[in-house]
Amino acid sequence: MFSVIISAPSGAGKTTLIEKLLIQNPVFEFAISTTTRIKRAGEAEGKNYYYVSYSEFMQMVDRGEFLEWAKVHDNYYGTSKKEVDRIKANSRIPIFDVDVQGARSLRNKLQNVISVFIIPPSIKELERRLRHRSTETDHQITVRLNNAFGELREYVNYDYIVVNDDLQKALDELSAILKTILLKREYMDATVKRLMEDVHDYTIR
Ligand code: ADP
Ligand code: 5GP
Repeated sequence: MFSVIISAPSGAGKTTLIEKLLIQNPVFEFAISTTTRIKRAGEAEGKNYYYVSYSEFMQMVDRGEFLEWAKVHDNYYGTSKKEVDRIKANSRIPIFDVDVQGARSLRNKLQNVISVFIIPPSIKELERRLRHRSTETDHQITVRLNNAFGELREYVNYDYIVVNDDLQKALDELSAILKTILLKREYMDATVKRLMEDVHDYTIR
């Protein structure tokens, strides 16, 4: 099974890009994380995240329900095993929107991982996007901007880098990366085998 990991400093545009990408490519499915973060305006339970309290989150940790989990910008986030099983059962390719810690864990736990790091064109533009989004307090924006440098240093562990300057250009690049997965030999196995059966059954006139 293939999996896609997408990470970015907060505000780089990862959520915007993933939402558009999923409309174009239904073979991919967003792996919905569980978080202790407060729901933002416009977000929905079971679409963006499963929202839980800190104690509910820690109970899930104790029960071993997470494939990976981490504290990111003062909140807890985790990928549940159940969510991965759900996507597998649908024969879809999961897209994991996780931070750099989550990406490290998933790389160790899953096979055939393709990882993409999305970066903003500049830190000034990153701050502008975070402020313009108006979903965090000044303090939370400062925390997210302060963490951006440490996150950027992790770029060396990713397969692909996409600069989200022009949104459509970034979307085209991300889409092109993901389309190559669908052409991987392992993914094309059934298609080639069907052709081989065809060859086997074919009588040359
Ligand atoms: P992330 O999920 O990485 O934290 P979002 O997708 O929420 O980031 O994007 C942060 C803000 O930047 C949003 O208000 C979004 O509309 C805006 N945005 C995203 N991509 C671009 C872009 N290419 N140009 C300008 N604004 C963008
Ligand atoms: P946000 O609060 O902006 O939605 O997300 C903050 C950060 O948490 C982002 O870097 C996002 O990728 C990360 N994140 C979201 N879900 C998970 C998860 O399940 N695991 C980990 N490790 N990080 C996550």
